[in-house]
Amino acid sequence: MSWQVIKDAIKDQKMVCPKCKRPITKHEKYVDMVASVWDGAGDSLQETSGSKVTLICGNQDCDWKERTEFWNQYIE
Ligand SMILES: [Zn+2]
Repeated sequence: MSWQVIKDAIKDQKMVCPKCKRPITKHEKYVDMVASVWDGAGDSLQETSGSKVTLICGNQDCDWKERTEFWNQYIE
């Protein structure tokens, strides 16, 4: 499900590189994780979308790349 969100965001240029502020053009190594993640603090069970992806800016002169499970922060 969220894989589709990432693909659409990149296709629609809504995923923006924090370094050069241009749309991120590539992604790879998508991993679906367990639905809910215990954060260890003891009081909050995070209902994350449970997926990790490597985002690659891919624009000229920018080498930004990040493996993150908080990819939705880059969607405008
Ligand atoms: Zn960039």
